[in-house]
Amino acid sequence: MRILEPRSGSAVVGRFAVVVCLIALVNVGFMRAYGMSHLVTPLYYVLHAVFVGGPFVLFALFVIVFQIRLQRKLSFLSRKDGLTGLNNRRTFFEHTDSRRKECKDGVLLLVDADNFKRINDTYGHQTGDICLKRIAKTLRKNVRHDDIIGRVGGEEFAIFLRNTSLEQARAVGERLTKPIIFRPVNGSSVRDLRVTLSVGAAMNFADQPLDTLFARADQALYKAKADGRARLVVWTEQLPMH
Ligand code: GH3
Ligand code: MG
Ligand code: MG
Repeated sequence: MRILEPRSGSAVVGRFAVVVCLIALVNVGFMRAYGMSHLVTPLYYVLHAVFVGGPFVLFALFVIVFQIRLQRKLSFLSRKDGLTGLNNRRTFFEHTDSRRKECKDGVLLLVDADNFKRINDTYGHQTGDICLKRIAKTLRKNVRHDDIIGRVGGEEFAIFLRNTSLEQARAVGERLTKPIIFRPVNGSSVRDLRVTLSVGAAMNFADQPLDTLFARADQALYKAKADGRARLVVWTEQLPMH
């Protein structure tokens, strides 16, 4: 079906012309088969194909374009988070799992907004949503375009940094813990607000199950929260389990 999809006005005209020519040729064959070709002029074939076949062709093209757009939209919605446009949890896990197989040297960062409930409770859910979008933008800005980012929970995000040492990941993670300034909902009298992030980091190891990698980053994140938030903690063997 995708091959039939017209991507421009000239492509619509092109496909229309091809199908109309085919209809005209079938008509010629039909009239010849029944010995009636002497009854009509060549112009008849053209006009007949355009006015009888044309509306059907246009309708079919319209249905094809509609179906393909709908398919793309559904596929986007099933892979992405509607609010931030980042990968949703399932997609993030899938991409990270396959990326881990290609490059063993990676680091997982689990990122959680600090005291986010307070933002919602004080300024409203809509402002909370603006804050989440701003966080997503900040995450995107701070990583390479082929690192994987996802929204894995309400105000929880994850990043898989490929081919990255712990030191490089530490630098990225530290940057993310700086306050993020955002504008509350339009028309609000409140001035710019700020939110901070806590980050838990864990190094990827060959043959380590994905669940273990996540559990370690989560353990580090838990410690970052317990130590006062707005900070990065890297997982080590010494971290207590929670
Ligand atoms: P902590 O620093 O310990 O992480 O505290 P917190 O307040 O950030 O965490 P908590 O789990 O208490 O609250 C998270 C809040 O995030 C609660 C929930 O209503 C809110 N939340 C989850 N998803 C969304 C969303 O899509 N939009 C908005 N506006 N709020 C959301
Ligand atoms: Mg939080
Ligand atoms: Mg949370």
